[in-house]
Amino acid sequence: MKLETYQNIVNGELVHSGHSYQELANQYGTPLYIFDEASFRKRIESYTANFHSDLFETQVLFASKSLLTKAIAKIIAISPLGQDVVSAGEIFVGLAAGVKPDKMYFHGNNKSDEELVYALQNEVGTIVIDNRMEASRLEQIAEKLNKRPKVLLRINPGVEAHTHQYIQTASLDSKFGESIFDEQIFEFITQLHESQFLNFVGFHSHIGSQVFDRESFFKASLAMMEFAQTSQEKTKYRITEINFGGGFGVYYTKEDQPFEMAEFLPEFVQNIEKESVRLGLKLNKICIEPGRSLVNASGSTLYRIGDLKDTVSGKHYLFVDGGMSDNIRPALYQAQYEAAITNKITEPATIEYTVAGKACESGDKLIENITLPQAITGDLLLVNGTGAYNYTMASNYNRLARPAMIHIDGAHHRLTVKRETFEDMMKNELD
Ligand SMILES: *Cc1c(COP(=O)(O)O)cnc(C)c1O
Repeated sequence: MKLETYQNIVNGELVHSGHSYQELANQYGTPLYIFDEASFRKRIESYTANFHSDLFETQVLFASKSLLTKAIAKIIAISPLGQDVVSAGEIFVGLAAGVKPDKMYFHGNNKSDEELVYALQNEVGTIVIDNRMEASRLEQIAEKLNKRPKVLLRINPGVEAHTHQYIQTASLDSKFGESIFDEQIFEFITQLHESQFLNFVGFHSHIGSQVFDRESFFKASLAMMEFAQTSQEKTKYRITEINFGGGFGVYYTKEDQPFEMAEFLPEFVQNIEKESVRLGLKLNKICIEPGRSLVNASGSTLYRIGDLKDTVSGKHYLFVDGGMSDNIRPALYQAQYEAAITNKITEPATIEYTVAGKACESGDKLIENITLPQAITGDLLLVNGTGAYNYTMASNYNRLARPAMIHIDGAHHRLTVKRETFEDMMKNELD
């Protein structure tokens, strides 16, 4: 397992900022989500410092669907980050933690009237419109509430990004946004510009997730700026803001080769500056909205190893006390992870295990074929790179209680999410 900056080996044991995983497991129980605050704060600083321009205002938004708790939102609230939200529930958590609503961008392809009312009443700064029906619903709501929200339109630039490759114009049938290849779009954009009740300023797009190809981002940003220029020509109205989305790839296993964000971001900004001058755009604000790449490496999950079983076919199963209920990603899209037995970190890896969870699904395997030292019941298995899309996608399948979460900040650690109880899981149920 690739160690994170906050992990090192002391007396044959893996530790987190000097804290023994054995002691953390004893104090907080397992499975346990562990989040490293210091590395998160460092990444926030680096992103905001490197996504900077002298030509326009820059804003890094945290895609909060990747990891959102009150404690995380409190870190966002006192940081320079804005918050990308996709539901009233995410707005609620942000507000509860003190995130300024004017720094929120409200996305989503089917926001309900109730959610739009909630967003406007709470002064959410920017609504990212997905489609024509939403635009007219938002106009009616804004008129009724006597508001004039700032609005972006989500567009689909036809650059669909995959790991190591992109397919141009292949995403014409995406559920998100309006395609730039639709000639009718300029009529719609004119309506947005001329709306009495909307303050339409520009465009948003998000090309995909876990993208490793830098070129996809350059290509998509160019497509968006060219589209902004075309839009200005066709509608005679100025575009002043573009949100370029997130999706920057991160390391899970050796197969992943993420690019260095501290190098990429300044080049990305410079390219936007150069192209916007060339195209005659007068942007005054640009945004990006990373989720995974801000939080994933700060998170890990600690499990206690239970039974071990060898199948007749020779497969070695290692069972942990969590699984798809706390990390659905392997079952959902064959996501890969690395792991280590923290109390045997210096022992030679000799056995190929399949790490499986305790849920009643054959697909509940966290890691297929990982070579580890000989494990016994009671050992601790740590899976790295679980900061994003683990807690937020967790479920109570099989009535498994969702794990607790702790934050570690150097010498200190504290509980930030209590372990669920059986009563918690029943609290909405009536006779
Ligand atoms: C999911 C999402 C993001 C963040 O994606 P990451 O891969 O976590 O960086 C940003 N913007 C939008 C609109 C999204 O849907």
